[in-house]
Amino acid sequence: MKKEKWEEKCPICGGKLVTTRTVLDLYDGKVTLKGVKVQYCPKCKEELFTPEQMNKVDKLTEGIQLQQISLKRRVSKSGRSLVLRIPQDIARTLHMNKDTEVELRVKNKKEFVVEVVA
Ligand SMILES: [Zn+2]
Repeated sequence: MKKEKWEEKCPICGGKLVTTRTVLDLYDGKVTLKGVKVQYCPKCKEELFTPEQMNKVDKLTEGIQLQQISLKRRVSKSGRSLVLRIPQDIARTLHMNKDTEVELRVKNKKEFVVEVVA
């Protein structure tokens, strides 16, 4: 994996980023983290995390009983397949990204399991 150097500039507008604290709502507001350090762009009001700040958030959410968090989502359609979008919080927790391989296992007629393979 290529390690990218964190820029002090906003990747959207090129404005200068400032470090600020924010309240982070995760899992549809089921988990709230207060005073989370974040890079903030005053120009386009975008909040961005440095890799270190991201690690901190990871550490903070580590102790949360994630198996008790459930989110409702509606599937959409793409061609002949149904598409289920994975919320960003879940993707981050499971370290999933664009090319992550998952295995789908049908448990019964109402449940299936998505397991991260690689
Ligand atoms: Zn910006």
